[in-house]
Amino acid sequence: MDEKSYPEYAAIIVNRAVKAVDKIFHYHIPVFLQPVITIGMIVKIPFGRETLEGIVVDFVDTPEVPVEKVKDILECLSDQPLFNQELIALSHWMSERYLCPWVTAMQAMLPAGLQLTGKLPQSSLRYRLYQTELLSGVKGSKRGLVRDYLKTHDGALLSEVLAATGVKENIIQTLVKLGAVKKVGETVWHNAIPPDFPGNQRELTPLQQQAMSAILASWEKDGKPVLLHGVTGSGKTEIYLRLLQHFVSQGKQGIFLVPEIALTPQMVDYVKSRIGVPIAVLHSGLTGSERREAWQGIAQGVYQVVIGARSAVFAPMPNLGIIIVDEEHEASYKQEQTPRFHGREVARERCCLQKGLLVLGSATPSLDSYDQAEKGNYHLVELCQRVYAQPLPQVEVVDMREELRQGNRSIFSDRLVDGVTAALDQGQQVLLFLNRRGYHTFVSCRTCGQALECPHCSVSLSYHAYDGKVKCHYCGFQGEVPTLCPHCNSHAIRQFGAGTQKVAEEVMQHWPGARVARLDRDVTAVRGNHEKIYRQMLDREIDILVGTQMIVKGLDFPSVSFVGVIAADTSLNVPDIWAGERTFQLLTQVAGRAGRKDGQGRVVVQTYRPDHWIVRCAARQDYGAFYEQEMERREIGAYPPFVSLIRLIMSGTERAVLSMAAEKLKGYLMQYAPHNRSGNLLGPTAAPMEKIKDRYRMQMILKGTDGEGLRRWAQQATEQFQKEQPVAKKIVLAVDVDPLSMV
Ligand code: ADP
Ligand code: ZN
Ligand code: ZN
Repeated sequence: MDEKSYPEYAAIIVNRAVKAVDKIFHYHIPVFLQPVITIGMIVKIPFGRETLEGIVVDFVDTPEVPVEKVKDILECLSDQPLFNQELIALSHWMSERYLCPWVTAMQAMLPAGLQLTGKLPQSSLRYRLYQTELLSGVKGSKRGLVRDYLKTHDGALLSEVLAATGVKENIIQTLVKLGAVKKVGETVWHNAIPPDFPGNQRELTPLQQQAMSAILASWEKDGKPVLLHGVTGSGKTEIYLRLLQHFVSQGKQGIFLVPEIALTPQMVDYVKSRIGVPIAVLHSGLTGSERREAWQGIAQGVYQVVIGARSAVFAPMPNLGIIIVDEEHEASYKQEQTPRFHGREVARERCCLQKGLLVLGSATPSLDSYDQAEKGNYHLVELCQRVYAQPLPQVEVVDMREELRQGNRSIFSDRLVDGVTAALDQGQQVLLFLNRRGYHTFVSCRTCGQALECPHCSVSLSYHAYDGKVKCHYCGFQGEVPTLCPHCNSHAIRQFGAGTQKVAEEVMQHWPGARVARLDRDVTAVRGNHEKIYRQMLDREIDILVGTQMIVKGLDFPSVSFVGVIAADTSLNVPDIWAGERTFQLLTQVAGRAGRKDGQGRVVVQTYRPDHWIVRCAARQDYGAFYEQEMERREIGAYPPFVSLIRLIMSGTERAVLSMAAEKLKGYLMQYAPHNRSGNLLGPTAAPMEKIKDRYRMQMILKGTDGEGLRRWAQQATEQFQKEQPVAKKIVLAVDVDPLSMV
């Protein structure tokens, strides 16, 4: 007799992302399911008049409703759990942190290709056949073929046996039924990346050694997150690899997050050759079935290291030891769809839940993380020098207004042309960077370089093509585009921008012999392209690479000696609070791509605002100065990290309906406003990108020093609004807690 007592009731979250059913429901587990059901499984349940899927999040002894009213679970849709306990806890935390239904957070965790609906796909299995003592007694010509084959090939693959004997699979099935053959399944991991021979172990430099010891010491002391601030080329990657190895050797697993899928091949190469354990990659460039398989393998502990973009933070590692967030300042860690989570923040919570070490690394830490370090919530570990103490590259700032005055109307300044030509002559590679954020949306003066700013806020006005007006989507101010520059009275005031394609074309005209490639969103939309370009760059099959943000992030191309920035100011003029921080990070990072091997790097930054303090700090690659000044600006303006923000984005197909809904929602927000006046309400105003795919967009911003109180406020007001106002059903309301963009 089996004495084990099985759980009788399950706590279930229903797979329906609406507020009204966003809570736990109790169900009875029928006897036939009791031995197989586990937490994290997907089940089918009767719900009202429907049959829905649900996720088992817990077991309970007594249901909260009378026993006779409790319904039965109908069936289990998976033979394995999709979530472990920590992921369930994490998803619950997310639902409270980002104000979304619990099930929405769970859905966001699953890679595309794995859904809560329908039967779950089984992982790919293959079978081996083994003989038993009954096999020798088997008679019959076809069965005999199998018998004879297995005598010499015990444990052969089913497919092999079928091919070698020519019998049909039903013969095998019969033999299995008779007990003459044992059929054993094994999972095939098609996409596992096998380890190379770990050979090229590197000696750490003394500085790297110090940093490594400091990280492990702090981990042993109190387990707080570590912010690794190391200048570009200081060898952070080597430290990450050692850390991963440290945890893997203790039987734990590690997650390595990269801001951009373009960076996965580089990291996979490193981990493969250094650590020598099976690796899985998780990112949006994989097919559904690849991701599904990776997910299942990770859950079963097949992989010790997972490398991937933002959502890899949810990889279901059973025994997580460490999460490393490389280039932690990157905005791509923030998801801009519901649930609007921040990968860095989720990683922090996950490490907290699973008692893992969180390491955030960057040459240009986010203001937020550096602030946390200053407050003592993170340990700060610094690497102030490049690996062999090579100098940081020389940065020359070129004033494009001056170029224009000299009669140069091309997009390349004379010094940039010189630099590229010289590098090519020496057989070196060139990166040309086009800062495309804010492309075409702001108005600036080509004579004095100033962008139009809101008279009430320190943000640039954005240009709206549909009505030709400039608007501030922070406070709602709007106006006409002036014909004269308000600063210098020049007529040369207009929208600004050029695309990577245009730049690449001009490059080919200028340097006809050079091999030119382009790396941007359009190019990487094609599967496999980013990896191809990365390899070609390493193999020096490309002379000049023109690209956007993507070429900036952490790529290590030793033979790049010249880096050109086509227009530094574009991102400065993005109409939001973070424009300065982003621009500083971008410029410092892009400059850091030059001269990584021999320190002979040269950088030319073209700008219309050579005196802007951000451009100057970046040219000196002076993080300290940038941090001080930017924090002061944030404090004066009452911007994050001194306050918390919540952005409410409303969209709808009819402008009038949308405005009405916005006003109604505003009414609820006023009604529920914190009594102690700890929160402010800004808006409603038109969103900077006012129309997307035929939908109009408006936004409101809640601002206050008490983040928790702000979330409660937003939650109560939006819930009442949605409950009581029919117009709420005609619009879509998205909630962005701690937004990182206002556009
Ligand atoms: P970061 O990520 O800090 O910008 P990387 O980790 O890419 O810098 O390292 C910069 C360069 O220095 C790389 O080419 C790397 O291979 C090399 N490097 C790093 N650490 C060492 C070491 N201990 N010995 C030799 N070369 C190293
Ligand atoms: Zn001007
Ligand atoms: Zn304004």
